[in-house]
Amino acid sequence: VEGYVECTQPSTPLSSSVMLQRRMDIEVHLRKAISKRELKLVYQPVVDISTSVVVGLECLLRWDNPDFGDVPPTEFISIAEESGLIHEIGEWVLREACQQNQKWRKAGLPPMFVAVNLSRKQFNDCRLSMTIAAILEETGLDPKYLELEITESLSVDARLAADALGKLKKLGLRIAMDDFGTGYSSLGYLRDLPVDKVKIDKSFIKDLQHGHVNAVIVSTMLSMAKQLNLSVVAEGVETEEELQVLREYGCRFVQGYYYSKPVEVCLIEQMLFQLA
Ligand code: C2E
Ligand code: CA
Ligand code: CA
Ligand code: CA
Repeated sequence: VEGYVECTQPSTPLSSSVMLQRRMDIEVHLRKAISKRELKLVYQPVVDISTSVVVGLECLLRWDNPDFGDVPPTEFISIAEESGLIHEIGEWVLREACQQNQKWRKAGLPPMFVAVNLSRKQFNDCRLSMTIAAILEETGLDPKYLELEITESLSVDARLAADALGKLKKLGLRIAMDDFGTGYSSLGYLRDLPVDKVKIDKSFIKDLQHGHVNAVIVSTMLSMAKQLNLSVVAEGVETEEELQVLREYGCRFVQGYYYSKPVEVCLIEQMLFQLA
């Protein structure tokens, strides 16, 4: 087809072995990252556009290693998943996020939820709900202020996934479907799984002008979510125009650079205390 040129990059033995070496080096360093306190969480606000109130914060993992610099989360998380390190790292993230949110509550900030990304590997671990129950107990965080973000590629078996989500929801927390609209079976997941919220993928939150396919998709997602009683967050909101269109479509909650990038604890605290 004209216009579609297949890019076949010849992977020379050299380049692939360099990549493999980097992966292995990263894995070795990642193993020590928790104990060396190299991991940290940054937080990005989820804002109610009708009031400008920050209703929640998504925590996103960062790893600053002296040898590699800032490794992008997508890169080191996939290595963590393959090596099994994701269990330890994921548990650290959950504990850290719950602890932090509880601290903010105690410091007198208005209640907000904290949203934690779950990897599929964590989700498929049958001990997950026990681990989370223990973390909630230990930190004292009310489970209604914890949200778990799952992606659409959870598990092939919808029944198993529904059971696992049911167990998690019994703890009193909420489940959000992340990157909504990008998977191949988004609607099937919505039908089969007890989710509370969808996060419209940021690839849809651009070119929202009237008549564009994204505008049609986003407004349809919003009306569907409303009829299904699901809460919606639009991700990747970067401009005033995007915000305007979303407002017209009746979208209430947004997240994106327009309000704030994901930022470190001290900065997000400044922001929250100023707003409070
Ligand atoms: P995600 O969960 O979809 O997170 C949203 C990503 O979009 C973040 O990238 C965030 O920085 C970025 N983003 C937020 N607002 C905007 C915007 O307005 N415009 C654009 N262009 N981007 C925006 P980040 O932090 O690099 O994370 C990438 C992915 O890594 C996450 O995607 C998530 O899948 C994964 N990830 C990050 N932290 C964790 C974690 O603690 N556990 C797990 N399992 N995955 C994580
Ligand atoms: Ca997410
Ligand atoms: Ca997302
Ligand atoms: Ca955007």
